[in-house]
Amino acid sequence: MAMERAQIDRRHSEKAYENSMIRAASYHRRDFDLAVIKTNPSDHEQVRSSMLRTTGAPSVNLGRLECLPLEIIFEICLLLDLESLFRFRQVNRRAQQIISAVHGYRETITYALEVLCIVLRTKTAPYFTIYDLFKVLCTRDCLLCGSFGGFVFLPSLMRCCFSCIKEDCLPAIMSVADAKRLIKWSATRLPKSIPVFKTLPGIYSMDETSQKRRMQIVTKEHIARISRCLINEEAQPTRQKKAAVLRYMVTTALPHLDITSGDIQSGICCSGCQVALEEAMRTTGIEVSALGLRDKVYSRDSFLEHFRQCRKAQELFTLSKKGVDIAKISESVRRGGYFNERGVIMSFGR
Ligand SMILES: [Zn+2]
Ligand SMILES: [Zn+2]
Repeated sequence: MAMERAQIDRRHSEKAYENSMIRAASYHRRDFDLAVIKTNPSDHEQVRSSMLRTTGAPSVNLGRLECLPLEIIFEICLLLDLESLFRFRQVNRRAQQIISAVHGYRETITYALEVLCIVLRTKTAPYFTIYDLFKVLCTRDCLLCGSFGGFVFLPSLMRCCFSCIKEDCLPAIMSVADAKRLIKWSATRLPKSIPVFKTLPGIYSMDETSQKRRMQIVTKEHIARISRCLINEEAQPTRQKKAAVLRYMVTTALPHLDITSGDIQSGICCSGCQVALEEAMRTTGIEVSALGLRDKVYSRDSFLEHFRQCRKAQELFTLSKKGVDIAKISESVRRGGYFNERGVIMSFGR
């Protein structure tokens, strides 16, 4: 028993030491979050608390549904698309009570409410379930490259990373107009089985491009399902001309929830690599690999691994123990990346 206690205490002090390394030598890239679809988290606080609250004991039951065992009702809720689920939740307090107990509901509302609101606003809610959203919240790494993925590709709710957005590695997308032309679709609407993503006005990409018009977007994969013709890369006008900004318009930031430990993380970059890059710019000139290292997003564990090899990060940690604040050393670290003030004000001013 005493040995167990000693082990727990040792693990706690190790974790506290690791946390101080992370605090001293890493930062979160806010500019990456602002390059994609963003929401102001404070706008959702009231919604979040009302969606987590069950107001008093129900005065009426679910009528005919009440004859089903509760487990079956939970299963049905997990199969309902997001739009139907929230309509069902509106029925009465009993429905609210049941939905609050659905597997993954509380975690999804607590940590992925912003994504849920975006899914509703971009009109893709009929294509996904609460479980789809919960699954992507609990997926840590980018499904395309395996790095820490702090983002989600919304047309198929797939975990991805900022590097895959920037480097154009996401599944191909195109406007509905281009898709119709390509597959010679003459009807006004595409079949209902094809999720059509309606983009939101805002400021997108690292160039802070303003997009005022809403566009309808589909994935190549979904279009291929209704068309026998092969959609090759050259035949995609949207991909060639507009995809550079479009891919930022179909993605958003989403933290990772470790369901076992309850830890939530959004990804961190190395302050040491940023400071090293700034020093190289002033003296010897920068190497391409330094840019990649500066932009690399780590999970908590992978950052600690990097820390062991990054001399500059270790220097920052030593300085922090002497009371030197890293934010005073690098303006980029203090601001959380690069962007102009106009972009920040406009992004959060909407
Ligand atoms: Zn990736
Ligand atoms: Zn580093």
